[in-house]
Amino acid sequence: MQETPEVQKEATIKSVAPNTASARDEDDEAQAAAKRAKKILIRREGMVRGRVPWLDRRNVRTWRHAVQAVFVLLNVYLCTQFYFWVRYYETGGESLKVARPAGVEGWLPIAGLMNLKYTLLTFKIPPIHIAAMFLLIAFLLISVLFKKSFCSWLCPVGTLSEVLWRLGQKLFGRNLPVPRWLDISLRALKYLLLAFFLWIVVTVSAEEIMAFMGSEYGLIVDVKMLDFFRYISNVVLITLIVLIVGSVFIKNSWCRYLCPYGALLGVISMVSPFKIRRDAEACIDCAKCAKACPAQLPVDTKLQIRSAECTACLSCVSVCPAKDALQLSLRPDKKTAVNGDAQGIARRWSKRALSGAMVTLLLIVVVGGIIAAAKLTGHWQTPIPEAVYKELIPNARDLGHP
Ligand code: SF4
Ligand code: SF4
Repeated sequence: MQETPEVQKEATIKSVAPNTASARDEDDEAQAAAKRAKKILIRREGMVRGRVPWLDRRNVRTWRHAVQAVFVLLNVYLCTQFYFWVRYYETGGESLKVARPAGVEGWLPIAGLMNLKYTLLTFKIPPIHIAAMFLLIAFLLISVLFKKSFCSWLCPVGTLSEVLWRLGQKLFGRNLPVPRWLDISLRALKYLLLAFFLWIVVTVSAEEIMAFMGSEYGLIVDVKMLDFFRYISNVVLITLIVLIVGSVFIKNSWCRYLCPYGALLGVISMVSPFKIRRDAEACIDCAKCAKACPAQLPVDTKLQIRSAECTACLSCVSVCPAKDALQLSLRPDKKTAVNGDAQGIARRWSKRALSGAMVTLLLIVVVGGIIAAAKLTGHWQTPIPEAVYKELIPNARDLGHP
C-alpha cells in the first residue's frame, strides 16, 4: 500500500514514453505534453509514513478483515450452540439445554432456495426453515448491490480459503498462477454444480416442497447437515483434505472453481450498479491491481470489471497508488470536465465510490435489516414442537432422504 520509489519510477517511465516524433507541429507537441502530464502519479491523499486513514476509500483490509473475523466468530458461536442443542435431544435431556439458533440455517442454501420458490409461487411464507430463506434473500440482495461481496466479506469458507492462500504465500513466497485457459475451464465446474441444484429447485412443485419440508428428513435437515460433518465418510474427508491443501497453493480454489453458491451470487452480481471502475486518466498503468486480484482479473486494462468472479474484496483498490484511479463505485459523473487535472478527476468520482467503512456499514444494514424484519414479523424461528425433536433427533442417522 505504501508507494515505493519504484512506483514513482514506473510512473515517470510511463510519463516519458517514447512519443517524440520530431515532425510534430507545435499543437501536436502541446497535446503530447498534456497526455504525458496525465500519466504522472498523483499520490493518494492522507498517506502518512505508509499508513492510510481509517476512512480512506482505500483502507479496506482493516474493515474487511474485521467483518470477516466477526462472521467467523458468529458462525463458531452458532454452530457450537447448535451442537449443544442437538446433544440435548441425543442424550435424552441429560446435557445442557440451549435454544435452537435459527441463524445456523444460513448453511442450508437449498432449503432457502426451495422456500423462496414456494413463497414466489404461493405468496405464502413457509413455516419450516424460514430463516434459511431470509438469509438467502439478504445474501442475494447484497450481491445485487455490491457484487459478490458475500464471498470475500461474510462467508466463513471464503475467509478460510483466504487464510490458506495467504499461508501458502508466506511459506512458499507465492501462490501458483493458473493459466488463463485452465482458469476459465475450471470455473465452469461451479456453474455445472449450480445448474444441477437449480434444476432440482426449478422442477419441484410448491406441494412437493411442502411435502419435503414437512417430512421427518426435512424437519431435521439441519441435524443431517451436522451429522454429515460429524460422521464424515472417508471419501468426503479425503476430498476436504485435497481442497484444503489445494487452497494453500491456488488462491480461493474452492470458491473460484467449485462453490455453486458463489456461482449463483456471481451471476446475480452482474447487475450490480457498484463495480470496480478504473479512471484511465488517473491510472499510471503500474498493473499492481491486476497482480493483487485473487480472481486473476485484468483490472489494469479494463475501465470496469463486470465479471461474475469479482468478489468486491477491494484488494485491487487497496494497492493502487494513484489517487482516484480505482474504486468500487457507481458510474462516474460524465458532466465533469477533466482535462487531466486532479480536481476534475476527483469530482468525477465524488459521492460515487464506496470506502471500506461504507461497505461494512451497508452490509450490516442490509443483512441486519432483513434478519430484524424476519424476527419482528415472526418469520425467523421454525415452530416445531419439542416432542417432535425428541423423537426425531436421536434417530437422525437412520433417516434417509425421502
Ligand atoms: S477486481 Fe478487485 S475487488 Fe474484484 S476480485 Fe479482483 S481484487 Fe477483488
Ligand atoms: S488502476 Fe491498477 S494499473 Fe492503474 S494505477 Fe491503480 S494499480 Fe496501477
